[in-house]
Amino acid sequence: MDFGLSFEQEMIVDTVREFVEKEIYPHEAEVERTGEVPIEIGHEIRDKCIEAGYFAANIAEEFGGGGLGALDFTLLERELGRASNALAVFFGRPSGILMACNAAQREKYLLPAVKGEKFDALAMTEPEAGSDVRGMKCSAKLDGGDWVVNGSKHFISHANIAHFVIVFVATGEEQSTRGTRKKITCFLVDRGTPGFEIRPGYNSVSHRGYKNCILNFDNCRLPESQILGELHRGFDIANDWLYSTRLTVAATSVGRARRAFEYALPYTTERKQFGQQICKFQGVSFKLADMITEIDAADWLTLAAAWRLDEGLDANREIASAKLYATEMLARVTDEAIQIFGGMGYMEEVDSTLYLRRGKQYELMLGGTDYWYDIVAEEMIDADEPVVLT
Ligand SMILES: Cc1cc2nc3c(=O)[nH]c(=O)nc-3n(C[C@H](O)[C@H](O)[C@H](O)COP(=O)(O)OP(=O)(O)OC[C@H]3O[C@@H](n4cnc5c(N)ncnc54)[C@H](O)[C@@H]3O)c2cc1C
Repeated sequence: MDFGLSFEQEMIVDTVREFVEKEIYPHEAEVERTGEVPIEIGHEIRDKCIEAGYFAANIAEEFGGGGLGALDFTLLERELGRASNALAVFFGRPSGILMACNAAQREKYLLPAVKGEKFDALAMTEPEAGSDVRGMKCSAKLDGGDWVVNGSKHFISHANIAHFVIVFVATGEEQSTRGTRKKITCFLVDRGTPGFEIRPGYNSVSHRGYKNCILNFDNCRLPESQILGELHRGFDIANDWLYSTRLTVAATSVGRARRAFEYALPYTTERKQFGQQICKFQGVSFKLADMITEIDAADWLTLAAAWRLDEGLDANREIASAKLYATEMLARVTDEAIQIFGGMGYMEEVDSTLYLRRGKQYELMLGGTDYWYDIVAEEMIDADEPVVLT
């Protein structure tokens, strides 16, 4: 068993780490202070990412992307995870779902997204349908050949800069072994489509400048040509995307936790109390030992799950475990990082508060963390009734 990275993988890690430190870190404090990313800075990051050959690294080479496999892309996301989402979003990774585009859609959506000419956002969550996405109420009815969409979505990341949104909508009902459930279809919706409104969302406590939006659909007419993939089969094309997004969230958590750890570690030798460095107190040194062990464990769990995907092995349970463990690890590690700084850890002058605020985010995304215990369990248990009822 070889745990080493190949030369190419080392290069991905080094290049992305250097990019993040050189091109993203210098803007972070100002973006966090103002809650805004000046668009010229966003475009500068995008252009430098294109120049470095890393834009759309997740998209297949045949469509002009970098064609990275799951493990390589996970390494990239891990390093990018150190940075603020508000700025990292311009290090473009168009949604992998776009690879389901037909020929006409490819020209209009996928290729411009790969070139950095158009940004996409993805909308599933609704005010009353979060972890339980299939409970969505946003629906479309067929009328004279068009699909007429009504309803709303919220928490939609970076829709403020999106030229189009990939939207999941209920288009009917069907019987399944789990009872009646909604049929879901995926649509491509251009900004400016009549009846479609993108409004500012809520103020996030971290990654300020990384905007979330509310989408409203009021008799929004979409021709059949805007369906991505097949009618009623929206979740089929979402599955591959979901795997890579869960891995991304796990990998990002590892990168983010390692940055918080590297920030806290030197302070334990600089700070003295009771006439000695605080790292000499067992209460602090054991904390550091726990933190690094958990970070490494989450790292290997995530990389191993990505490796399984590349090998074509079933990886559902492993990816779910990586998402669950890495996101909870991040919250614990950032919490400990703030503790290490003592009272100063609670002051905005010290970056630990920034890491702490960033630490919670991923336990909440893609379904709350409690729900992920169900997912991991369902992958293992052959119960009479499904553990997850969606
Ligand atoms: C920063 C951020 C960015 C986001 N970006 C996007 C985006 O771009 N597009 C998008 O569509 N969505 C996005 N979301 C939404 C996100 O995916 C949802 O917040 C998430 O799915 C949880 O849904 P909810 O907030 O409605 O919580 P709920 O599902 O209502 O959960 C509430 C609580 O109940 C628990 N819970 C729920 N179900 C179960 C269960 N079966 N078992 C045990 N406990 C359970 C949860 O863990 C949680 O503690 C984003 C969210 C955040 C925070």
